[in-house]
Parts: sequence; C-alpha cells; structure tokens
Amino acid sequence: MSCLLLGVLRRRNAISTASVGVRSLASIPSLPPSVAEFVSGAVTECKPTKVHVVTGTPEETADILANLEKEGMVKKLSKYENCWLARTDPKDVARVESKTVIVTKDQRDTITLLESSFVKHNVDRRHCFFLHQILGITNPQGVKRYIAAAFPSACGKTNLAMMKPALPGWTVECVGDDIAWMKFDSQGKLRAINPENGFFGVAPGTSLKTNPHAMATISRNTVFTNVGETSDGGVWWEGLEPPAPGIKLSDWHGKSWKYGDSTLCAHPNSRFCAPAGQCPIIDPLWESDEGVPIDAIVFGGRRPEGVPLVYESFNWRHGVFVGAAMRSESTAAAEHKGKVIMHDPFAMRPFFGYNFGDYLAHWLSMETRKGQTQLPKIFHVNWFRKDQKTGSFLWPGFGENARVLEWIFKRCGRTSEDEAATKSIVGWIPQNGAINTEGLGGNIDMGALFDLPKPFWQKETQELRTYFTQQVGADLPAQVEGELRALEERVRD
Ligand code: GDP
Ligand code: MN
Repeated sequence: MSCLLLGVLRRRNAISTASVGVRSLASIPSLPPSVAEFVSGAVTECKPTKVHVVTGTPEETADILANLEKEGMVKKLSKYENCWLARTDPKDVARVESKTVIVTKDQRDTITLLESSFVKHNVDRRHCFFLHQILGITNPQGVKRYIAAAFPSACGKTNLAMMKPALPGWTVECVGDDIAWMKFDSQGKLRAINPENGFFGVAPGTSLKTNPHAMATISRNTVFTNVGETSDGGVWWEGLEPPAPGIKLSDWHGKSWKYGDSTLCAHPNSRFCAPAGQCPIIDPLWESDEGVPIDAIVFGGRRPEGVPLVYESFNWRHGVFVGAAMRSESTAAAEHKGKVIMHDPFAMRPFFGYNFGDYLAHWLSMETRKGQTQLPKIFHVNWFRKDQKTGSFLWPGFGENARVLEWIFKRCGRTSEDEAATKSIVGWIPQNGAINTEGLGGNIDMGALFDLPKPFWQKETQELRTYFTQQVGADLPAQVEGELRALEERVRD
C-alpha cells in the first residue's frame, strides 16, 4: 500500500488531522484551498492508496508509535517517561545529500515550496531569508538581543541555541536550533521565526557538562535513534559518564558492548528528537507570529586550521561574501569518508533550491533597500580550531562561547567602527583583551586562536576562486567577485 504523507510544520492550527482515502480527499474541510489543490495534483501524479495529513497531535503520535512498536521498529525505554529507541538499517544513518531532491516544474522555482498556505505566516518569498538557529541573549543589565546563526551539520547549532553561558549574569534563551525563516518587517527590522516544533540533535557529546538544557529537554517524550542502550532501559552514548557498575550496554547495532571497547557504542550521527516546549530555556517569544528582531547574523564552521575564533564582516556586502565562502570539516554525512573541508555556503548547500548566483544577489539586494532596512551585523565564528601540534581544540567551547557572544553583543551596540576591534585581513577581530578571558584558566592561547597565517589564506582564496568559478560561474554577482578580489589583495605577500 502506498501512502502520501503530508508534513505540516509546527504552526498547529494550520491544518486539522486527516487520514483519508483518496476518494474522500475533497471532504477534508479545513485544508486551505491551495493546499487541497496541491494535494490533488500530487495524488493524480503519485496515485497513492491513502493520504495522511501529519498534524502532530498527541493521539496521532501515540498511534504512529504503537504501530512502529508492533512492527519492531521502535522499542520503549522503560527508564524514562514516553521515550523510544529506534535502530535504523546501518546503511541508513544520515540523509544522503546526493539523493536529496526537490521537485518543481521549473528548476528555479523550488523556493515556492514555502508558499504561505503551508503556514499561517505569510512568508513573502521575495524578501525571505533562511538560516538555522535563533537565540536570545541578555546581558547583566537586562538588555536583550536576538542572534540568528547558520552552521553546517554537526557544528554546534543545538549546543549554541541552548547554551548555558559560563559568564555570570548573562542568559541565553532558545527560539530554535535548526531553521530560521526571516524577513524584514514594515519598520525595516529583520525578524525571524522558528517553524519547527522540536529539536533533532546529535546525541554523542551531549551531556550534563556540555549541554544541561538539552539533557533536561530529552528527559521525556523523546525518540532516540542509533544510540546505545543500557540494561535498565536507558540510553547511552560517547560523552556521557561511564555507566554505573552492574549496568550492561548494547551498541547501536543492538550487540553487547563494553565500556572501553574500541568500537563506538552510539553512531556518531545518532540523534534525539524532542518537543521544543520542554527546553527549560525556551524563549517566551518562540511561537510569536511576528518573530523576534534579529541584531546579528553569525556564520560558522568546523575549521581545524587558519580560521579565527570570531570576526566581524566589514559591512553587509562583505558579510554576504563570508556566508558564500563558508567551509566546514565534515565526517558524519553518510557519503563522506574521512575528513574533508567542504564548501557549505550559508550552511545551505544541501537545501539550495535555486540558482546560487540568484541566492547571493537576493542577499546583496538588501543593502540597496537601505533606509527601509536596518541590516544586522554579520559575524563568523569557529569553535573548532586545533593546536596543530597536539591536535586538541584551542578553545574550550560550549558555555564558554558566551565570551564570544558577549563581544558580538557589544559590537551590535557599538558607537564607533573600531570599538573593541581591530581590522585584519579577514574582517574586524577583537582587540587584545576585548574577549573576556577571566576565569578561563591560563592555558588558553588567544594568540593562536586569532593567528591569520598568510599561506593558509592564500590557499583558501585560491580554493574559493576555483569553487566560485566551477559552481557559480557567470552567475556570480560582481559584488561577491569584488570581495573575493579584495581578499586576494589583502592576503598577498
Ligand atoms: P548541530 O548538528 O549543528 O546542531 O551540532 P550540535 O550542537 O549537535 O553539536 C555537534 C557536535 O559538536 C557535538 O558532538 C557537540 O558536542 C560538538 N560541539 C558543539 N559545540 C561545541 C563547541 O563549542 N566546542 C566543541 N569542541 N565541540 C562542540
Ligand atoms: Mn542540531
């Protein structure tokens, strides 16, 4: 039996539950006309025996889980309330990017997929941006700013969005950790919403020490995929405390596993999936229809070498270039064996539905709408720079990243361009001492974190030129080409 599944994002009142035979499709009363039309079209094309409109009601969830349990696809975890373990086919542990498709009539039309009828928000596609996580950060004086960020897969989105700041007096609240839809409001302020209902996070490395808010979020009503299992009906993964004496473990294949074995207990891309509302620091405005006002956009990636802890773009146009030039070390995706530094512009590579040149032009066009638009500042961060000798991370990361957010926060409210910052070849970097290192301990090498080796950047710019030429070609906007040339000039000996 084939079934056409219609996923409906969080906005709950958008569409009511319906699991219907194809013939009765017309009788679903609350489907907006354009959605009903879309469904009929898909039904004609795909000829399913059944159509199910996914709505996310608790009854629906319980029903799906009960069926999956009956089929042996999920197992109830007796240690927690309403938690489930799913073990996938070992070959099916990550989205295969080369097999991810977006289907539209016209190749350049894919962004129509976000037409307003699927959500109660009127997403105006001409002025809409897509990024990843959104968080609110409040300083000790009670001033709050919202930051939208875009990191590629497994680069710390969930951890940043749910951060417990190591700096006293600062608080972080989470609006969302994976999707941000943004547009300028009538006052010219960029506003962002999280269209999702839950968190889908990487389990290994998540612990009370690294992300206590995530741990609280996943304590109930959670589905775990490809993690290890304990003999008392709980879960385990690399990064958690060793299991208590007497507790036996099974790995993600379901095979017996002992702490200290050389194989991994949990798959590196094993995940938790939990309702966002359970997050102890969920932002009070996380479901706001207007969205939250964005002061800063932060790009980032996993860069073991050459890329500083943080820098700010010289201006909007340069910031668009920084987004286009994003690269990140990748391992977890199914099709990438070994470690490679992949290009991942705007952390959108797997999702680009249309011409990359047009996408860049769209970002650039916001600058010429100046006057109406208060453009956010654009930053780039790298928590993952390594000591080339020891191979260990130079920066402690996690809650300590609040120190970097503090600098970003201050730069958003700055009164002059060079306040707390110095010009470098890549952008504005923090002045000596502008990152608060109090209480960090003496062995953080700030010099190494902000070192900008010319040979590295020469190679990087060459790599970028090749990438832009091959991937964007004639569609590369002149402004981005200009920014690349300017960087080439700056890194020249
Ligand atoms: P996401 O897939 O982008 O949401 O990334 P996650 O927040 O789930 O983190 C992916 C991996 O990076 C996990 O193993 C985390 O423990 C690790 N990670 C996250 N933030 C940091 C950080 O600031 N420093 C270091 N060293 N690792 C981090
Ligand atoms: Mn995540």
